[in-house]
Parts: sequence; structure tokens; C-alpha cells
Amino acid sequence: MEGFPADYVVLGDGTATFGALVDALARGNRPDVCGVVTYQEFARPGGVRSQGLSPQISRQQPHLSLQPRRELVAGYQDRYFHSFYKPVRLMRFSVGCPYRCDFCVLWKTTGGRYLTRGVADVVRELVAIPAENTYVVDDEAFIDADRMLALAQAIQATGYRTRFHMYCRADTAARRPDVVRAWADIGLDSVLVGAESFADETLANYRKRATVRDFRRAMEVFHEAGIKVRANFIVHQEFDASDFGAVLKGVLEYEVDIPSFAVLTPLPGTDLYNRVAHLIGGADPETFDCYHSVLPTRLPPSEFYERFAGLLETCAARSGGSGPGVFYRSSPTALSAMLAAIRSIPKSQPATVH
Ligand code: SF4
Repeated sequence: MEGFPADYVVLGDGTATFGALVDALARGNRPDVCGVVTYQEFARPGGVRSQGLSPQISRQQPHLSLQPRRELVAGYQDRYFHSFYKPVRLMRFSVGCPYRCDFCVLWKTTGGRYLTRGVADVVRELVAIPAENTYVVDDEAFIDADRMLALAQAIQATGYRTRFHMYCRADTAARRPDVVRAWADIGLDSVLVGAESFADETLANYRKRATVRDFRRAMEVFHEAGIKVRANFIVHQEFDASDFGAVLKGVLEYEVDIPSFAVLTPLPGTDLYNRVAHLIGGADPETFDCYHSVLPTRLPPSEFYERFAGLLETCAARSGGSGPGVFYRSSPTALSAMLAAIRSIPKSQPATVH
């Protein structure tokens, strides 16, 4: 659609919906598919919304069934990358999450259900093709620690090797260092931890059900196992200069290998969105990207975004160019482009200071 970045938007879980959309388009039909809206419908003021569970998720029993047709994209495989992992193959061992974080849309997408694939099913897909890097896109792979231990042992028995990047909650790692070590032994190279904040009160407000103490212990467990930690922190609209400083201090103190930062964004469908929707107005859907703030900031926007960019810049400078430093390393110019884009936001967005 000329002038728009997309023709259609798939709302919620798209595993089955996307296939139905492609089928309809291939037949030359205007898609009449549950969970699909045109970009114009999506982008009009008040048009951003979530829908109920996709039929696929509603029907699934506790076990997830996935058979990706990788042969269809084999020609593109070498070009896929995720941050500094290139080439990379994506896999999914589970979907959903039993936790209920206030800002998170993932548990909403599956109606709070946590669906897992069987160990043999995962191993069969994993070993079918060689892959230098494997990014496991589970919302939280390690929820069932005993299952993950069994999976690590089954992979170990095949002798297959790849470099894994996976999501893991801090409290899970703190509770089960044995599982973390078992995954390190079969190639777990880095984890993504939703650290969010260095303040227990803020974590409780987000309904994170993990503490700063869990994070501290998790960092020890991961580092002892030789695993790099990408930790994400939320940049809250209430941040003042000292809050930005506290996040930087925590990143340095805990030696977070790859810090990443996201402005608190009330994604449609989340509990957070339902609480603050009246403050958002007709925000452009393009600004729900975790870099723009769609809510008013305590600091003037120019200072808020300058401090946000400065936080990234300082973290990136730590490594002296020898390591990832921050998450934005998909190309040599990715970080500078990101910083320039963040610093330019106040020019393109109406001032939303309170
Ligand atoms: S933020 Fe992570 S732990 Fe919290 S509900 Fe979402 S996926 Fe689960």
C-alpha cells in the first residue's frame, strides 16, 4: 500500500493467522481472516487494538505443535541475523508465559497459557540442519526447569552443536544453576534477562515477581558458566537525572555484558495499556516502538531523550569496541544511527511533558 509501511497487520499470535492471510492473498481475495486488519484500520486514531486468542492458540492442548517449512527459505538462510549473531536460525521450544507482568503482551497473546513442545520434537527439528547460531524465541524458555534439563541432556547426547541465545528470567537462573550449567555445556552463549529495574518497589509495580537479589544471583550464575547476559531495562517516564544515573550505576556494578533499554510503552492489549489509555490520545502507532514515549515524561522531552541516548552511548563505550557493549550492533553504523534517531525524537513528536 503506497505511503504505508505494511498492507495488513496481524494482531496477536500470528502462527496460523499469517498462513491464512497468505492463502487469501494468493487466491486474489481480500483477506477476511480473524486477527487481520488493514494497515489503515490499524493506524486510524483509536484503531490500535488487540483481538481475542487466535483459533490456533485456543485449540492447542498444553503441547505446542510446530513444523516450520525451512526448505522454503533455505536460500535466504545465510542472510538472517539477530544483533551480532549472523547467520542465525530461529527456533521455538514453547510459547506463552505463566507470569503476569503489567507491561507485557506475551502472556496476553496466549491467554496466560504456557504451551511447550516435547523434547524429542525439539531435538528432531534442531539437528535437522546445521546452524552456527540458534536464537530461541520463546517468551521464557526456562519456566519448566526440569524439562529444560532433560532437553539439554537430550541435545548433549546427539553431539550436535550450535551457539544458543535464549530468554531466561533472573529468578529461574538463581533457583536452578544446574540447568544453566547444563545449557552452557551444549553451547548457551548468551541470555536475555528482563531485568527492568534496580529497585524492588518498581519491580513490584511491574508485577515482575522477581527481585534485585534474584538478578544479582543470576548474574553470578551466568557469568560462572561463561554465559553473556543481555539485560533489558525499562526507561520510565518518571525518570529524572538521578534515575538515569542509577540505571547506569547498576549496569556497571553488575557487569551487565549487553544492556538494552526500552522506554515504558503501553502496548495495546496489556494491563498497563488499559490503565493509561486515557493519557495516550491519538498517538501514532509508529511511535509504539519502545524508543518514543507515548506517555508524558517528567523531564522535558529534549532532556529525557538526550539522557536516554547518553545512557546507551556510555554503555557502548565501556567495551572500547572490543565487545558488543550494547545490543545495537547489527552493523557498524547501527548504534550511531540509533542514537541520532533517539536524539531527533523531540523534533518530530509533540512535547509531552507533565
Ligand atoms: S515480561 Fe517475561 S516474565 Fe513477564 S509476563 Fe512477559 S514473558 Fe513473562
